[in-house]
Amino acid sequence: MTRQIKVGGVKIGGGAPVTIQSMTKTDTRDVLATVRQIKELEKAGCEIVRVAIKDFEAAAAIKAIKRKVNLPLVADIHFDYRLALRAIENGADKIRLNPGNIYKENEIKEVAGLAKKKKIPIRVGANSGSIRLTSVRGKAQDMVKPVLDYIKILERMDFYDIIVSLKASDALSTIEAYKLFSKKSNYPLHLGITAAGPASTGIVKSAIGIGALLLDGIGDTIRVSLTGDPVEEVIAAKNILQALKLRNFGPEIISCPTCGRCQVDLQGIVNKVALRITNDERRMTKNYHSKIAIMGCEVNGPGEAKEADIGIACGKGSGVIFKKGKILKRVKEKDIVKELLKEL
Ligand code: SF4
Repeated sequence: MTRQIKVGGVKIGGGAPVTIQSMTKTDTRDVLATVRQIKELEKAGCEIVRVAIKDFEAAAAIKAIKRKVNLPLVADIHFDYRLALRAIENGADKIRLNPGNIYKENEIKEVAGLAKKKKIPIRVGANSGSIRLTSVRGKAQDMVKPVLDYIKILERMDFYDIIVSLKASDALSTIEAYKLFSKKSNYPLHLGITAAGPASTGIVKSAIGIGALLLDGIGDTIRVSLTGDPVEEVIAAKNILQALKLRNFGPEIISCPTCGRCQVDLQGIVNKVALRITNDERRMTKNYHSKIAIMGCEVNGPGEAKEADIGIACGKGSGVIFKKGKILKRVKEKDIVKELLKEL
């Protein structure tokens, strides 16, 4: 089991549930816009949020942002260790240092000294794009070795509040790096594929990389990186954790892709049910573990619908609702959404 650290009030590692992180895409100096985005992320299910600290003004903005948000705030630091010092002084709940661009021992020690005093953790966050390549070995080793050396510097300061990430932009190198590291160390791991691309490819890469590691019991917190709305990152992260049955964020919809046999607007029905479930999540807390099957015809429809808690197998302009495996009633197409939600 990994060591446990705490970011604000959120536990990472040591058997705690795998948490969801994201990062704001606003200019951190714009406090209003950053606070607005953090609130959107929190509403979507984000549990820890990171902000980019590009300069001293951004480091100072942490204080004002913290007053207005509930989520623990991580300061993302590159190039200038003094930004980390300023971010800690202003109340950051965790610091991310990049070993590829902050590597002087005296600088690392100064940051660790202040982090220790304020009792906040440091993420040693290696990215394949910024790590100093130490040899001609494979990418995974090239990332793991400098991170282990970095950790030794922190440990010499009696600093153990450490979390590690080893992100490459391809899933396979990322998996290899995390696996290699987890054999050598029990510090908790922040998983992610860096620069994974837009949602269409990024979600697939992240699901493969993060999913493969979590299936092997590796990983304590995750961030899906997408070129796009960060809320999408949180939704994708929730879906990865739910698919692996590590966390549960609400009822699961099972629906068929439709084909030429389908004689109702199944896509419309599924979208409406999905939207209502998301909006009514709190009201549906009791049904968090439910499965809802929405199937387009009688081929797979009755089977899937019967296995779900509530299901519908559609026919021509109507559908048969099943509840806990038993036929309940036949309803008209226009009433399907209403009746399904009623039964749920
Ligand atoms: S359940 Fe029916 S409509 Fe849906 S994909 Fe299968 S055959 Fe097509």
